[in-house]
Amino acid sequence: MPLNEFDIIKKYFTRQSSHSTVVSTVGDACIGDDCAVVNPAQGKQLVMSMDTLVAGTHFPESATPYQIATRALCTSLSDLAAMGARPLWFTLGLTLPHVSEQWLSEFSRGLFVIADQFNVDLIGGDTTKGPLSVTVQVHGEVNTGAALMRSSAQAGDAVFVTDVVGDGAAALAMLQGANFLDDSLQKYLLARFYQPLPQIAVGESLAPLANAAIDISDGLLADAGHIARASNVVIQLDLEDIPVAEGLKNNTQCTQEQCWQWGLSGGDDYQLLFTMPLHHLEKLRGEIAAQDVTITQIGRVVSAENDQSKVVLMKQQQVCDVAHITNMQGYQHFDA
Ligand code: ADP
Ligand code: MG
Repeated sequence: MPLNEFDIIKKYFTRQSSHSTVVSTVGDACIGDDCAVVNPAQGKQLVMSMDTLVAGTHFPESATPYQIATRALCTSLSDLAAMGARPLWFTLGLTLPHVSEQWLSEFSRGLFVIADQFNVDLIGGDTTKGPLSVTVQVHGEVNTGAALMRSSAQAGDAVFVTDVVGDGAAALAMLQGANFLDDSLQKYLLARFYQPLPQIAVGESLAPLANAAIDISDGLLADAGHIARASNVVIQLDLEDIPVAEGLKNNTQCTQEQCWQWGLSGGDDYQLLFTMPLHHLEKLRGEIAAQDVTITQIGRVVSAENDQSKVVLMKQQQVCDVAHITNMQGYQHFDA
């Protein structure tokens, strides 16, 4: 007999909560009543964000249920990282064309691998029938007043990025048919696409140090533009300092222009772009020493003349033409 909605939820999505902030409403489970009940901590603000992934648009139809689950939760958690928040709970909206236990079991396995890694509890959701889509709403907390906004970049700040950019776009190109003729690079890019691990630890350390932050989902230039506009500043980026994965830089199938284009306007990287006084860098590096992540300075914030906020790309200290390098291509969905 096929599972009904309640059986699915019980079997694949109900686990005991690990957070003391979650109230058990049904026996020792926190899922199953009309709502989840949580106790926010004193002195904290709640931070929340929702993202939907639609099959064929945000992931290829060929993605495995495990891959879909890890991508959905990682990309949502990245928004919490960008606010400097600590993840607490999430809810899951699942629309399925039909019920397959094998699918659900793999989806649930992927989901809880990431949930456990980032210590975030599933506390509820909704399950419906229809074309495959996954919505995740994440909730986190920050010390009151400490959330990292896009709107607080200050002239004089240095601009930094975590890890490397361009992997998301290169992975997308690969999923759409590009062949890098390098198995280890292809494996690396696949992992970057389906498990773009959110920079939660860096975000939490940044909260008291940085002035502004954003996670790179639209592309470095576009997301720098979001900070510049919201903060009414000019952001100068040094093209030659923008970090791209060695495997891509050295790949015979990629030109330097292609790497720059992916890094600047590809999107889907889920790295943090932040502005911070340079003198905090050493403290930040000390705090995240245990993390396997590099921090690279890629530019600076200067004041906007006549309120003209913008992003300026520099090469050898000269302003260079963004359109020429990037061809101004933004994020491309699978159905684009
Ligand atoms: P209601 O009719 O009250 O909205 P539902 O039948 O939609 O209740 O859900 C029953 C319980 O199962 C609720 O506690 C809900 O949060 C939970 N739930 C439903 N779908 C999911 C899911 N995909 N993941 C986690 N919890 C879910
Ligand atoms: Mg419901």
